[in-house]
Amino acid sequence: MFNRVLVANRGEIAVRVFRTLRALNIASVAVHTSSDDLHVRHADEALQVPKYLDMGAIVAAAVASGAQAVHPGYGFLAENAEFARLCAEAGLVFIGPPAQAIDAMGDKIRAKATVSAAGVPVVPGTAESLETWSDFPALIKPSAGGGGKGMIVVRSAAELPTALESARRTALNAFGDDTLLIERYIDSPRHIEIQIMADTHGNVIHLGERECSLQRRHQKIIEEAPSPFVDEDMRAKMGAAAVEAARAVGYVGAGTVEFIVDGTTGSYHFMEMNTRLQVEHPVTELVTGLDLVELQLRVAAGELLPIGQDEVRLRGHAVEARVYAEDPARGFLPTGGRVRLLREPGGVRVDSGLAEGGVVGSEFDPMLSKVVAWAPERGDALRVLDRALRETVVLGVTTNIPFLRALAVHPAVRTGELDTGLVERFLPELVGSAETPQDVVTAAALVFHAVPRGADPWEITDGWRVGEPAWTTWRLESRDGVHAVRVRGLPEVSAEVDSGPATITWSSEGVTVTVAGRTTHYAAARDGETLWLGRDGQSWAFTRHLIGDPGDRPGAAGGGDGVVRSPMPGTVLVVKAQQGDRVAEGQPLLIVEAMKMEHTITAPRDGVVTELAVKVGQPVDMDAVLAVVQEEGP
Ligand code: ADP
Repeated sequence: MFNRVLVANRGEIAVRVFRTLRALNIASVAVHTSSDDLHVRHADEALQVPKYLDMGAIVAAAVASGAQAVHPGYGFLAENAEFARLCAEAGLVFIGPPAQAIDAMGDKIRAKATVSAAGVPVVPGTAESLETWSDFPALIKPSAGGGGKGMIVVRSAAELPTALESARRTALNAFGDDTLLIERYIDSPRHIEIQIMADTHGNVIHLGERECSLQRRHQKIIEEAPSPFVDEDMRAKMGAAAVEAARAVGYVGAGTVEFIVDGTTGSYHFMEMNTRLQVEHPVTELVTGLDLVELQLRVAAGELLPIGQDEVRLRGHAVEARVYAEDPARGFLPTGGRVRLLREPGGVRVDSGLAEGGVVGSEFDPMLSKVVAWAPERGDALRVLDRALRETVVLGVTTNIPFLRALAVHPAVRTGELDTGLVERFLPELVGSAETPQDVVTAAALVFHAVPRGADPWEITDGWRVGEPAWTTWRLESRDGVHAVRVRGLPEVSAEVDSGPATITWSSEGVTVTVAGRTTHYAAARDGETLWLGRDGQSWAFTRHLIGDPGDRPGAAGGGDGVVRSPMPGTVLVVKAQQGDRVAEGQPLLIVEAMKMEHTITAPRDGVVTELAVKVGQPVDMDAVLAVVQEEGP
């Protein structure tokens, strides 16, 4: 076995791999690009590299550190055959399959041809004479594709020529290769994948399936094992097919063979093989009791697989939810910020790269952590997952936790009748309302009322403020606009709001608020002028509304003050207006880029640009003021 391993990754997966290295008493080496990277705290040693994609620098760091092997995690260099070759040339073991297996599975046309020749069912399709395809609906895919990019559904022969032309353009732009394939489109299929492990001695086993049908835009959201659709017979057949697919390319290590399954007929077809550890591997670990990273390390070190196929047992049910820094209520825009308060739930597995004080930026994948629940039965596992998500507190960064909770308890999910279209069909009810509940606004107003601006309530113990007999109107800005709440009195003793008597008490982690006899506990944290309140997995940010006085102007709310804020953390890509410009409502002012997506920021009203606070290339925080558009005087 190795005694020193470098992990060429960051975030939760780096932390995950370090955990097994520590368990096996193997020294761990991290790479990082900035001192903000929190995963280094979990490693024995850390070396700085310019970029996580800088293959030369990472190989050099591994050699310099004395590591014998490199674990790529997932993403970045995990499926890069060139990187596997560079490692080998430098005398390092790449913890993954041989380069030729990565190559063979990296190209969809080649992968389908190879596994089909090995007797594995593939989706009927062709890479030749695309123009004469006649089986509709059909799906066009870039052969070099990934992440669902560039795929087009074609419903009839008439649509085909235009679709092919457009797909070629997209494929060339995105992957530098315009080779396409076309295949039968399976309406609302299930996504079921088989976990494979192979050693260098010719042993290949499967560890059962994971169902990943709960997706949005081809991105997995909640995954589970086993699949509620798969019985023992189907598992054995799909497992054997996956083992054949892996054998067909001389596979070594952990890999995943993805199948598309027709939920009506139960027929399954090979889609692709991912030649790495998957994000959702923990559900397999929880039902098999195996540590997949340990198995990866053992086979990479040349050991025999420690178990045979007939020793693999599945126990109970595991469900994983991916916590993202995104705001479902704002169209799933990426968020970000500094984590001010973090409480991870107990009684479940949490794979996380988060820490209090850590900054979530727009540079990397927005996945923050994974919450994984296990129970003997599926229904209980979903309930445990929901409970764990409810108990998770992340203040400072808006997350998708309320959306995950809605999905975990949704009746369609509970029945187990899943398909890849489910999330989209129920999206409005899963996303819920963007409105801040009135009781939360009231709680925030009471906190502001009790604490003078800039003071930290958790540092003040007693007797620092006298009650005010008169009503004070607090105008608080949250993501859905400006809210006004009237408060009078001393909230720590007895105050009053419009809905009745109110009090708050402080604790180390939050506030307990009683309004009109109803008591609620909130996690609370201050981030500069912003107050964060959290409850049941949800969080809200409030700032005192200081610009203008929109509460007094009918119809004016968020944006009505002419202040243009960044809807997410990102970088200013283009500035289209100048200070002094006369602009019309809806006119583009600037473009902000986040997560490689461009967002056009427009003028909230007709008027004059009185302030333009940013330059091209400048990084901006979420809600940072970008510009101010003032109405012209009469
Ligand atoms: P990528 O490599 O870009 O992720 P995949 O081939 O893995 O592309 O497909 C991504 C997703 O697209 C799958 O999870 C599935 O939801 C859907 N999909 C792929 N092939 C088909 C098909 N033939 N019919 C219907 N849906 C498909």
